[in-house]
Amino acid sequence: MTRYYSRIAGVLAIVFSQFAAGNIGESRTLSFYHTHTSDQLRVTYYRNGAYIPAAMDELKVFLADWRNGVQHEIDPKLMDILWQIQRATGNRETFEVISAYRSEQTNRQLRSKSQGVAQYSQHLLGKAIDVRLRGLDTRELRDTALELQLGGVGYYEKTDFVHVDTGRVRRW
Ligand SMILES: [Zn+2]
Repeated sequence: MTRYYSRIAGVLAIVFSQFAAGNIGESRTLSFYHTHTSDQLRVTYYRNGAYIPAAMDELKVFLADWRNGVQHEIDPKLMDILWQIQRATGNRETFEVISAYRSEQTNRQLRSKSQGVAQYSQHLLGKAIDVRLRGLDTRELRDTALELQLGGVGYYEKTDFVHVDTGRVRRW
């Protein structure tokens, strides 16, 4: 009997340590509105310590190159940056997506029209997204992203959005 209880205690200790580490019972949900397609998506992409493949597939479709429909895997760490921003600010509103995955063809087109488009953009890898967050000033969105130190952060004041990516920590 004693051995039985000590086994139960051992299992509970593991469960609680994983709970404390945020692995069990934690789910991560994001809401999106795409400013170019007007599509909306609310998706739980992470639960019980794992990314959900079906959800990542939905994100792949939703965050495709809107100009030509080309799709690419989206880095789950990119979704974590958005989720961490919401956790840090307490804002559970909808992200408005301006641009996410960008195909080579689209990137070339944009580069021919604007000097602000990088040749090796993280957008080409599914590792970058341009967003604003409803109910949050874009400067505050930028400052929160900078404080998190999870990747690159760009601020576009005129067009009122913030670029975040999972590349090395840098800002512009
Ligand atoms: Zn961008």
